[in-house]
Amino acid sequence: MGSILIKRGAIVTMDRRDSIVRGDLLIRDGRIADIGDNINADADEVIEAAGCAVLPGFVQTHLHLCQTLFRGAADDLSLIDWLKKRVWPMEAAHTTVSIRASAQLGIAELIKGGTTCALTMETVRHTEEVLRVVEETGFRATVGKCMMDKGDDVPRALLEETRGSIEESVALNEKWDGKGDGRIHCCFAPRFAVSCTAELLGEVSNLARERGVMIHTHASENQSECELVEQETGMRNVGYLDSLGISGSHVMLAHCVHLDDSELETLARTSTNVAHCPSSNLNLGSGVAPVAEMLSRGISVSLGADGAACNNRLDMFTEMRTAALLQKALHGPEAVPATRALRMATIDGARALGLENEIGSLQKGKRADVIVVDLEKIHSSPLAGDTVSALVYSATASDVRTTIIDGRAVMRDGELLTMNEDMVIQEANREASSLAERAGL
Ligand SMILES: [Zn+2]
Repeated sequence: MGSILIKRGAIVTMDRRDSIVRGDLLIRDGRIADIGDNINADADEVIEAAGCAVLPGFVQTHLHLCQTLFRGAADDLSLIDWLKKRVWPMEAAHTTVSIRASAQLGIAELIKGGTTCALTMETVRHTEEVLRVVEETGFRATVGKCMMDKGDDVPRALLEETRGSIEESVALNEKWDGKGDGRIHCCFAPRFAVSCTAELLGEVSNLARERGVMIHTHASENQSECELVEQETGMRNVGYLDSLGISGSHVMLAHCVHLDDSELETLARTSTNVAHCPSSNLNLGSGVAPVAEMLSRGISVSLGADGAACNNRLDMFTEMRTAALLQKALHGPEAVPATRALRMATIDGARALGLENEIGSLQKGKRADVIVVDLEKIHSSPLAGDTVSALVYSATASDVRTTIIDGRAVMRDGELLTMNEDMVIQEANREASSLAERAGL
C-alpha cells in the first residue's frame, strides 16, 4: 500500500483537545503516519489542501443501504404507513441485482459526501450482496441482516422463522466479520420491537454478548410505534428492550424520539448508544429527539441519515446542521455548538461502533479515514472565520474534494475511484423501475 501526503490544510483532528493544526498529514500503509507543520517525506501521491479542511471521515451510525433505490418513492407518509404501504413491499421485491444497485448508489453518495464508515441495517434477504459491494468499493461498514419474525401486513418474503433468522445472522457474521482488511464488521439487526418476538430479541441479546458483536435496532421513533409496544408488553419501548438485555455499550438504538424520564435513565445507566437521525425524524413527522437532555445525561448520541426512502439524502453535512439547529430552536443558541455536532459526526460515532481506537479522529497510528473539504466556495467564504463553524453550518456534501478510506483514495478531486459514477446512476435507474413493477407500485 502506498503513501499519501496532504499539504497545507487546516487539519481538524477531533482529538481530545479538538486541536486544529495548519500543516500537513502523512498517510503510510493505511495509517496516519505523521501530522505536522511541514512534513518532508517522499510520498506516492501529494494532495494540495490549501483553503481546505482536512478531517476524519464521517461515521454514520444509522443507515439502510438497501433503501437507496427507494429514494423519492415513499414520501409524505408517517412511519407505520410508510413501512406497510411502501418500504416493506419494496424491500420484499429486491433481488441480488437490485440490492447491489442500491448499495452502490448509497456508497457512492456517502463517499462523495465524505462519509467513510456506516452502521447499516439491510433487509431480510440478500445482505451478502451488500457486503460484497462494501468490500469491492473500499468502504468501511458494520452491516446487519434485518431480522423480522412477526408483525401484521408484513410481506411473505420478509417474514422469517425465528430460528432461521438467527442462524442466517450468525452465519453471515462468521463468514464476513473482519473481511476487507478489517473494514467490514457484522452485527445483529432486529428491525424493531414491533417486528420481532421476545424470543428472537432475547436470543440476539445472548448471542451478541457471547460473541462480542453489536446490536443495531430502531426504538421509539414514532408515537404509534411506542403505543403498539406498550399495548403488547405493558412496558415502555426502551424499558422492554432493556428487560430482554437489548441495552449496553454494544447496542445502537436508532431514533429515540419519544422517551420518558425512566427511559433516559436506562439509556444513561446502561451506556446504550443512540443514533440521532434529525432529517428522517422531520420527514416522517416523528418529532424531535431530546438530544440536549441525552447529552446532558452523558448518553452517547451520534448521527445517521437513515435511508434514502425517508431523508432523501445520505449526507452528513445536512444531519450535523439540522441536529444543531433543532436543539437551538428548543433550548437556545448555545445548545449543540458546532464542535459538539462535528464530534457527533466523527469520533462519537466511531466510539459508538467500538472503533474509537481505529478511526474517528486524526491521530498518529490510527487507520487513515480522511476527507478534504474545500472551504473556498462562495457559500463558505470568507475563510477567515472558524473552520469548524464553516464545516457544520456552511459546507455541503459537494464541497468534499477527496475521500480516503483505510489509506486508499476512493475519491479524488470529486471523482470516484472504486466505482463508475455514470454506471452507478444508470443501474440505479434501471433497477428502481423494475423493482417498483415487481412491488406493484
Ligand atoms: Zn432506519
